[in-house]
Amino acid sequence: MTASQVATEFDVIVIGSGIGGLVTATQLAAKGASVLVLERYLIPGGSSGYFDRSGYRFDVGASMIFGFGDRGTTNLLTRALDAVNVSIDTIPDPVQIHYHLPNGLDLQVHRDYEKFLNELIEKFPHEAKGVRQFYDECWKVFNCLNVMDLLSLEEPRYLTRVFFQHPFACLGLVKYLPQNAGDIARRYIRDRQLLQFIDMECYCWSVVPADRTPMINAGMVFSDRHYGGINYPKGGVGQIAQTLAEGLEKAGSQIQYKARVTEILTEHGKAVGVKLASGETYRAKRIVSNATRWDTFEKLLPRDRLPNSEKKWQQRYQQSPSFLSLHLGVKADALPLGTECHHILLEDWDNMESEQGTIFVSIPTLLDPSLAPQGHHIIHTFTPSWISEWQNLTSSEYEAKKEQAAHRLIDRLSQLFPNLDQALDFQEVGTPRTHRRFLGRDNGTYGPIPSRKLLGLLGMPFNRTAVPNLYCVGDSTFPGQGLNAVAFSGFACAHRVAVDLGLS
Ligand SMILES: Cc1cc2nc3c(=O)[nH]c(=O)nc-3n(C[C@H](O)[C@H](O)[C@H](O)COP(=O)(O)OP(=O)(O)OC[C@H]3O[C@@H](n4cnc5c(N)ncnc54)[C@H](O)[C@@H]3O)c2cc1C
Repeated sequence: MTASQVATEFDVIVIGSGIGGLVTATQLAAKGASVLVLERYLIPGGSSGYFDRSGYRFDVGASMIFGFGDRGTTNLLTRALDAVNVSIDTIPDPVQIHYHLPNGLDLQVHRDYEKFLNELIEKFPHEAKGVRQFYDECWKVFNCLNVMDLLSLEEPRYLTRVFFQHPFACLGLVKYLPQNAGDIARRYIRDRQLLQFIDMECYCWSVVPADRTPMINAGMVFSDRHYGGINYPKGGVGQIAQTLAEGLEKAGSQIQYKARVTEILTEHGKAVGVKLASGETYRAKRIVSNATRWDTFEKLLPRDRLPNSEKKWQQRYQQSPSFLSLHLGVKADALPLGTECHHILLEDWDNMESEQGTIFVSIPTLLDPSLAPQGHHIIHTFTPSWISEWQNLTSSEYEAKKEQAAHRLIDRLSQLFPNLDQALDFQEVGTPRTHRRFLGRDNGTYGPIPSRKLLGLLGMPFNRTAVPNLYCVGDSTFPGQGLNAVAFSGFACAHRVAVDLGLS
């Protein structure tokens, strides 16, 4: 579609086609709104996009996917696709993560809950009761969430309805909302190494230890992996955004690529439209930003008029590091028989949060071999890294630093895959600068993390902002990072916008 074919007045403009933006757009389109999604890149998906190289299809980021279950209410990716009459085939992953941790702590999180607990209790028999109490308490949170429609907590009529339908579940959630997982873990568990393991269980998706990880998010992740399970989309993670974008168009709305928004236009303090890098402008009754809060309020709106609520938010939350990513194509014999899809590797507990400390590994071709040439696999490895490590370098220094970082990662990975060095077929390194450039995220950040211990999720903003008619969606809104979490934020945002437009 060319820009000239696009009507210039819409009900809603969504800036960005990450999963948060696309779920908002498709939900609104399904309710009859005319929606225009503007995406700066060539394809949809943002951090859940993909790229093709030499016969391999690499996921840029996410590959451990929650939300594809077929029951309950927390299967938000299944529901989002369904709302616009599209679907994706998925492949169940029998093990969420294979951990390779300090002091030889080697264990797997099986899809089967009892199998996982038994394996963990075998490592910490003296904590058998505490292990069960902690993870069972996570189920209490999940069971509360999994009975109710997950919509906007900023909508009083919905809150009243849901309270009367599920009073005990609601009271349960209110109790857990201000709590962090670490406090609950320490209530039941004493063993230092087991508490460090629970820190890692949180860190590997929240990028902070258990003490700063909200219990609501921990309850979702630690239970849903055994309930809906981890399921990989056939054809790669990029299929989720591609299919949502197809659904959006089928529902009569529009998406434009290579359409970078440079400014949110306001009149009398209210958001009324957007301006693109091309100079074109579009107007809408409501504007939704799927860019991070830092990008939205400091780049798309005048930085010197940062609303007080955003200043306060920036005191409570800081940017997490970005990632150094190593995308490898390898000969199949690099992988020992029985290798699992997702791994976490750490050699020293003191380095869990350090620059390039914890290593995350995904081998999606173990589930979907079509993503690599025959007889080959993808090994996507990433590790937290700050943009400050990669700035002020000449281009030859930058290339040399990438090369050294790749060598170090391959060396560490050889602990899991001893023949890796001889099996390399393709290699590409992405740095925080790559994440900033291709994902359009300030400093390439993975998202907001609490700058100190906060009251659980209470400080995370919902979708409305201090600027009338402007909403935010995605990982810098409640409930935070992860595809299923940003899908939740999308459902909530669409619900609030639809009520404000009189569509719901
Ligand atoms: C390396 C890595 C691994 C991860 N692994 C997992 C995992 O295994 N499981 C999981 O659930 N989650 C994982 N995540 C997290 C997950 O990918 C993100 O939390 C989620 O995808 C964020 O979605 P979003 O909608 O908030 O934003 P984004 O994905 O950042 O999308 C925002 C979109 O907006 C566009 N945009 C920004 N500014 C503009 C503008 N001015 N104009 C037009 N368009 C704009 C961007 O191009 C982008 O497409 C991972 C993330 C990374 C980086």
